Amino acid sequence: MSNLALLGGKPVFEKPLEWREFWPPVDKRTAAKLEELYLSRQWTAFDETEVEFTRAFAAHHGTHHGIFMINGTVTLQCALGAYGIGPGDEVIVPALTWYATAMAAHYVGARPVFVDIESNSLCIDPEKLEAAITERTKAIIPVHLYGSMADMDRIMAIAKRHSLRVIEDCAHMHGGIWGGARVGSIGDVGSFSFQHSKTMSSAEGGICITNDAEIAERIFRMKHIGYGPGQLPGKAASGPPPGLLCYPFRATAFQALLLQEQLGELDERLVRYQRAVEYMEDRLRESTMIRFQERGKRAEKQGYFGWLMIFDHPEYMDIPLDAIQRAICAEGLPVLRTWDPVYRFVLFNLNADTYRIDQPCEVSEHASSRILWLMHAYLGLEADQLERIVDAIEKVLVDVGKLKASAR
Ligand SMILES: *Cc1c(COP(=O)(O)O)cnc(C)c1O
Repeated sequence: MSNLALLGGKPVFEKPLEWREFWPPVDKRTAAKLEELYLSRQWTAFDETEVEFTRAFAAHHGTHHGIFMINGTVTLQCALGAYGIGPGDEVIVPALTWYATAMAAHYVGARPVFVDIESNSLCIDPEKLEAAITERTKAIIPVHLYGSMADMDRIMAIAKRHSLRVIEDCAHMHGGIWGGARVGSIGDVGSFSFQHSKTMSSAEGGICITNDAEIAERIFRMKHIGYGPGQLPGKAASGPPPGLLCYPFRATAFQALLLQEQLGELDERLVRYQRAVEYMEDRLRESTMIRFQERGKRAEKQGYFGWLMIFDHPEYMDIPLDAIQRAICAEGLPVLRTWDPVYRFVLFNLNADTYRIDQPCEVSEHASSRILWLMHAYLGLEADQLERIVDAIEKVLVDVGKLKASAR
């Protein structure tokens, strides 16, 4: 007799552990500041709150300039556009990422080129990346994905050899440190998202950071219909450079204020997440055959957008992933499937002649078909909750025979 909840047993969590009940973080102090901002009427991108936050976020990541926007897709788009990348150009992106990474290239009129990932880090494979470079290639967008980091040493060396721009997609990796440098400060521009599910959340939002003053100004103009930094609407002495396509991508001071408060606790959050991951992986390595995403090779500190379990041990390969997911979810732990490779994503509708894939992205295909993951907010829970999370996963995986039977 199995006691799996899926087969009628008692679930580990009687009330499912839903992340929406504890994410995003809220506190009274931030609520008071929001009220103060509201009453001050200083709500716009031209007021002090945004300027303060962008400065603080850029400085935290070791850069001089920050440009705050409405999301972490247009940040990528503006970074590419600011370098004049557009029609006729190619931009290399990993096959496994959120589709924003590829769409940003499309939005500027360039062709996204999909490259496979490494099986340990699940980030773009530098060797395959170099093989995909042509005379049309202008930029690479490495993604620091879920709980790892792209190999920035090798990527920067390749970019240098071929004179390519590097736009780091840091949507999953706020505050990470690779070999002494914060992510986003290693490439030409770092792009971050503050969308609801990310490790810093203002429901929607994004930022570009860079040390290149000229590019910072171009990006700023792109997000503010052509106005330069410090120029008030209606009072511009100069316009944007000819041909620079500019948009209204401004966010509000409310978002900047929320993020300013969260930035103060970011490093502490990363430490807490790291401890949780170590505890869970140590226990599960003892009791199961689950494989885990390898941490960034030179990560001195890193974040987790999500914590991944890879079920590709031969012992598990004949159990459909859906069966494992159903069994863990039945225990009250809502684990998720990851995305398919971008070119298979249901919303991805580009014509085949507007993107390129040279090699089959087998590692991406395999990984995405065998991953279940837990949203990062769970990593911030107390020790007793983490224990029960592992209990739920162990309970399902230790009973592999029952799981296989239930899948038939
Ligand atoms: C979330 C995300 C983005 C940006 O998404 P927005 O919703 O536009 O902020 C970009 N890249 C990756 C990998 C992401 O996960």
